[in-house]
Amino acid sequence: MRRFLSFFFFLIVLCVPVEATSPAVALTFDDGPSGRFTERLLDGLQERQVNATFFLCGYRLEQYPNLAKRMVDEGHEIGLHGYTHHDMASMGQAQLSQELSDTMALLPDNANIHLLRPPGGKTTDRVAQAAANCGVAIITWSVDPKDWATKDSQTVTKAVVDRAQDGDIILLHDMSDSSVDAALAIVDLLRQQGYTFCTVSQLALRQGKELSPGSCYSRLSP
Ligand SMILES: [Zn+2]
Repeated sequence: MRRFLSFFFFLIVLCVPVEATSPAVALTFDDGPSGRFTERLLDGLQERQVNATFFLCGYRLEQYPNLAKRMVDEGHEIGLHGYTHHDMASMGQAQLSQELSDTMALLPDNANIHLLRPPGGKTTDRVAQAAANCGVAIITWSVDPKDWATKDSQTVTKAVVDRAQDGDIILLHDMSDSSVDAALAIVDLLRQQGYTFCTVSQLALRQGKELSPGSCYSRLSP
């Protein structure tokens, strides 16, 4: 009987997946690339083998094209954040498509662009139409610790770690040391809780969602 029970438990162990699917979130960084802060963030992410999503501005890409190349080479995802970082909600159709195509032209050929985050996350039917024409989905966020205003890495870290849930899209900016410190601490702490980090497109895939050009997504829950 004991031998039978041992065999029975052995069968159960075989049938249960070793690792249940872990919760996953996407870290996203707006407004870069920054000549002062992006490199240290990329170093920290590389050290931790974490991929993130960067919504880049065209006028900054003009200054730091090598950082975009490094992002792509290291497996990060790049999305558009406009050329000028002006409010897209108040732009006409021609200006919108110019913003998107001018930024796109500055990105590495293999950047594989599928995402747009309008500055401030402000979108309108016209922005959605421009995104659809360009073949990109609009990505806002579900967790916003307001790192650009708080400038305190501990407060930002706590705001994210306390709120994070499976499928969240976390908004940060690689525009200050406190944001970079917070981002890396968030990775370390959420990892201890079993979280996986992936790019926005990977998160969609993982959660079984298809990102449709012109549609808007703030989180990608299962
Ligand atoms: Zn922005």
